[in-house]
Amino acid sequence: MTAIRTTCPYCGTGCGLLVTPDGKGGIAVKGDPAHPANLGRLCSKGTALAETVGLAGRILAPQVGGQPATWDSALDLVADRFRRAIADHGPDSVAFYLSGQMLTEDYYVANKLMKGFIGSANVDTNSRLCMASSVAGHRRAFGSDTVPGTYEDLDCADLVVLVGSNLAWCHPVLYQRLAAAKVARGTRVVVVDPRRTATCDLADLHLPLAPGSDAALFNAALVVLADRGAVDARFVADHVTGFGAALAEARASDPALTGLPEADLATFLDWFSSTEKTVTVYSQGINQSSSGTDKVNAILNCHLASGRIGRAGMGPFSVTGQPNAMGGREVGGLANMLACHLDIENPAHRAAVQGFWASPTIADKPGLKAVDMFSAAGSGRIRALWIIHTNPAVSMPDADRVAQAIRACDFVVVSDITATDTTRLADVVLPATAWGEKSGTVTNSDRLISRQRRALPAPGQARDDWRMIADVAARMGWGEAFAWPDAGAIFAEYAALSGVAGGLGRDFDISGLHQADYDALPPTRWPVSAAKQGGRFFGDGRFYTPDARARMLPITPRLPEARTGNRYPFRLNTGRIRDQWHTMTRTALSPRLSQHIAEPFVEVHPEDARDLGLAPATLARVTSPEGSAILRVSITDAVQRGQVFVPMHWTGDTAPSGRIDTLVAGVIDPVSGQPESKAAVVALQPFGAA
Ligand code: SF4
Repeated sequence: MTAIRTTCPYCGTGCGLLVTPDGKGGIAVKGDPAHPANLGRLCSKGTALAETVGLAGRILAPQVGGQPATWDSALDLVADRFRRAIADHGPDSVAFYLSGQMLTEDYYVANKLMKGFIGSANVDTNSRLCMASSVAGHRRAFGSDTVPGTYEDLDCADLVVLVGSNLAWCHPVLYQRLAAAKVARGTRVVVVDPRRTATCDLADLHLPLAPGSDAALFNAALVVLADRGAVDARFVADHVTGFGAALAEARASDPALTGLPEADLATFLDWFSSTEKTVTVYSQGINQSSSGTDKVNAILNCHLASGRIGRAGMGPFSVTGQPNAMGGREVGGLANMLACHLDIENPAHRAAVQGFWASPTIADKPGLKAVDMFSAAGSGRIRALWIIHTNPAVSMPDADRVAQAIRACDFVVVSDITATDTTRLADVVLPATAWGEKSGTVTNSDRLISRQRRALPAPGQARDDWRMIADVAARMGWGEAFAWPDAGAIFAEYAALSGVAGGLGRDFDISGLHQADYDALPPTRWPVSAAKQGGRFFGDGRFYTPDARARMLPITPRLPEARTGNRYPFRLNTGRIRDQWHTMTRTALSPRLSQHIAEPFVEVHPEDARDLGLAPATLARVTSPEGSAILRVSITDAVQRGQVFVPMHWTGDTAPSGRIDTLVAGVIDPVSGQPESKAAVVALQPFGAA
């Protein structure tokens, strides 16, 4: 059979795949040598995709109240309950909670229904847990959520600084790409991370800074840039505001907050100030913080001051966790955005989108972000909630309270591919198509729009997400605006809307693609306009603020909200492991992937383990103010004294006592609304000790 070109459903690297169906329900998977993101490379998760497409655990029919139901009766009920909630309590009494696993077309339809027809902006996504602080930081500095860099910048940088980013395990093909650049041209690599991760194997310097002190580090870097003549005075004078205030605040901040050895700090500052071709890559270690947006702006300040932005081999670069976190941002999948990078709080933008949709209304203020959305569901403010392709009863901070909120909400619909802790709490469960069975587009971390193409038939009664949402919209009386024959028609409408954004000065204009052959669409990086060829932003010094100048912000470093003390003396860091993905609904199906690490664990420093009486491979109870978990002890000096690390993948099904987000408080960044997932405080004791 002919190989089908498609895209990996896991991380934001967005690797291209060649998938060959075997005609018996199985597939063979190879890396696509022609795809610009991976050039044929794959990691362990991508290589094992063929082992994860079976029907084990799949939801194959709609369920109402736990009983099988017809599609018509389930969709009638969903439409009726949403309509009644809106009639009785207003449009803000309903909400959608989406996922970076959804395709752009699915996201587009959900947003159109909620923001343009229901009239609420209560659409948020699990991407809020992943990169909302980067979005907010970009908007503050650039006037728009625009990622300046590309993967090619990693290939030609002289210095790559990885901040809070375990690229080796979380974006393995990008790591391979960086490793190749290091061999080819001697790229220097600095890893900034409290923990010695697998990524440190590539590092010329590892900076194990104090948790949450990243802004102090980049404030110190800004001062050194200024003191050593590395500020691009012309770029700053012509294209930036706020330099003086940002530098003054940076001078007032104390580099000792980082807790780094002076010699290592000096080496970093020396390299950072003297290397023009510097890329600063950052992800969850920066974003998942109560000061995540400030940390992002501290990094952006350095690149704006030095003019190292938008040119080959240099720039700040936020890498996204999920396969379509970026597509969700483009399509307005967050509660504070409109589609195509337009602003919900800008009347001209709202009028343009409403006019294009010919919709009866348009949301005119931001909706509830993830943490607030589930609080509202628990308190009765949200009466009807639709959760799509995500498992918040496990993955949200303070997960037990989130599960209670879902249970307490009047009416909850969940669309997913397998039973999860969240589907078990739903009034209605809708069977969705999975990767390999559906068709659409995703956008990776460097703005490359790639097709996912169907290789397998939908099992049982599973349906595409966009079709379920459109069917409910039709039942609510808006059938004409939601009557697409297929995903390609949705993409064409979305691309045409991006032309409206282009008319309003946004570079997110992919309208040239809307007449293209959707089936044949090659991976395409936006912007697609001739003026922006090369795919980098801001090298011309023009930003999306009203005066076209970037904003540097004064940043006062703030450490994590929760403080360690006698009762909870350890700082809990959370993250991913190499061979599992999110809550393991797919990767757990591969025996090969489970061989890497088979159960949840807690990493403890040897001296802390000795003091606590913890032996290797025994069990420990980990307790926070929010909850507790029982985990296998792994003793390693990869973590610092007073810190522990735990992976976030295990669920009520796979390890009932190992659900980590039950330990994490719902503390959020006040600007981005992103939870502080890496800085809870905990106590440890041997399991079974009194
Ligand atoms: Fe998939 Fe990411 Fe691995 Fe590429 S690096 S194969 S996108 S999981």
